[in-house]
Amino acid sequence: CGIVGYIGHRDAYPIIIKGLQRLEYRGYDSAGIVLFDGTENNLAKTKGKVEDLKHKAEISISTKGKLGLGHTRWATHGVPNDVNSHPHYSNSGDLVIIHNGIIENYESIKAALIKRGYEFHSDTDTEVLVNLIEEVKKQEGVKLGKAVQIALNQVVGAYAIAVFDRSKPDEIVVARLGSPLAIGIGEDEFFIASDASPFIEFTNNAVYLEDEEMAIVRLGKEIKLRKIKDDAIV
Ligand code: GLU
Repeated sequence: CGIVGYIGHRDAYPIIIKGLQRLEYRGYDSAGIVLFDGTENNLAKTKGKVEDLKHKAEISISTKGKLGLGHTRWATHGVPNDVNSHPHYSNSGDLVIIHNGIIENYESIKAALIKRGYEFHSDTDTEVLVNLIEEVKKQEGVKLGKAVQIALNQVVGAYAIAVFDRSKPDEIVVARLGSPLAIGIGEDEFFIASDASPFIEFTNNAVYLEDEEMAIVRLGKEIKLRKIKDDAIV
């Protein structure tokens, strides 16, 4: 039930872990983190506490990387276990997502994706959404921001999401409907979180997404805020 993301010039790992700890009050049953090390994504996730995640990450993955996403999950679809914990990858392995909320029509979308050859490893509604974004991106030949927008227009539910593409690791796309999401703006760095507590010591310049709003958070650029239902994007 918490989201933390970072893109910039610092090591993302300590910022994300500390941020997840500050969001623990929101309640959760599992936690996970992904870090992009410049080439590959390194992923650790576990049922249990952020402290358990920290332990698991530090013995099992490289915690290097200046881009990363962290999540605490309050299970709605699929039991609390390591596999159902977030982040989730798309089938290509390029896209990675964290999500708070519920995708209500995930079953019909999942069935359509399975017909097109997609495979699912978890029982979550979230893994359906990241693969829908991947399919839209492929079919429409659009950039990630546009693909997220088109996908969200096919979805019924509530969400705060953050997603990035490891093949274009200079941006994170975020969107909100019903779950809070804040973006902290620093110098050549951005923070993403369910509230400002994870980035309060780094910047007091923050943007809070409205419901039905999304943002493209790209290094070296102004934040692009868009209505999810708008046609014009990116
Ligand atoms: N519906 C998602 C799941 O069950 C996200 C739950 C949450 O808000 O943490 O995995």
